[in-house]
Amino acid sequence: MYRIRFHGRGGQGMKTAGRILGSTFFLAGFEVQDAPRYGAERRGAPIFAYVRASRAPIFERGIISRPDLIIVADDHLSAMPEAGVLSGAGEQTVFLIHSNEKASLWQERLNLHGTVFTLPTLAKSELHFRGAACAGGAAALIAELNADLLAQAVQEEVAPLGPELVAVTLAVARTAYAALSGHRGAVREDAPLSAKDYTPPAWLTLACEEPLLSAPAIHAAATSELAQTGLWRSERPLIDESRCNRCWWICSTFCPEGAIQVDDKRRPRIDYAHCKGCLICMAQCPTHAITALPEAEAATPGTKP
Ligand code: SF4
Ligand code: SF4
Repeated sequence: MYRIRFHGRGGQGMKTAGRILGSTFFLAGFEVQDAPRYGAERRGAPIFAYVRASRAPIFERGIISRPDLIIVADDHLSAMPEAGVLSGAGEQTVFLIHSNEKASLWQERLNLHGTVFTLPTLAKSELHFRGAACAGGAAALIAELNADLLAQAVQEEVAPLGPELVAVTLAVARTAYAALSGHRGAVREDAPLSAKDYTPPAWLTLACEEPLLSAPAIHAAATSELAQTGLWRSERPLIDESRCNRCWWICSTFCPEGAIQVDDKRRPRIDYAHCKGCLICMAQCPTHAITALPEAEAATPGTKP
């Protein structure tokens, strides 16, 4: 059985990646499971999607704890423990990381024992198709899959979006497939787990108490300030002062993180330590004073802010 996990952020197409790869396996004659796993948060938060594929019926359920292949769509996530990118990785696990850095650097940085490949980073105009690139790169590493099956799966999964988007998605998936096709068969199937191999999760069993007794006790105030949700951001909202008409109640009210404060001159100010990059403020701003800059560019010296 193949067990594959895609790690990315909400909005980066990991669900689509899982669906495309799952359909590619299905077209190759495999039994397939594919599912995304979201947390409580939305765009920008770490999420993952997983695919199981086997020639025999699949009896395993739930998240994949011993992956054969881990695809990382956003390399910033590898340093975030809460993203769980490295969870269950062993010597048999192959990594595919969407990054401009060398594979050997990631191997050393993350202390990985398995094989590491990198998927060349996409052009800015193609970043919305990151999921297709990840699926294409992953398909290239599996001996039983090929470019024709991948193309057919993309057509089936993306068809409702219209022919133009199908064409771009297909082109991105094919390019990624071609970039990794020299490593065909690098990911190998692992044996199905038997029931005796199953390690139960570390459940915390709470005593059954009266609701008034078992309600949570909050011992410290303002702890949400300590959660640096700004780390989730892949795009940074920027306010153009010359277009802002100071209707601060709009952007500051819509921000789900409360990350837009208003100064004494009624100018909105974004708290980048907590702005998670959902860009709801950009969508709501009536004068289009808010634009988005990819975080990698914002962090480059010479670009603002
Ligand atoms: S909604 Fe737009 S125009 Fe209004 S205060 Fe916010 S940034 Fe400025
Ligand atoms: S400032 Fe804008 S992009 Fe940042 S969390 Fe608030 S609404 Fe989202």
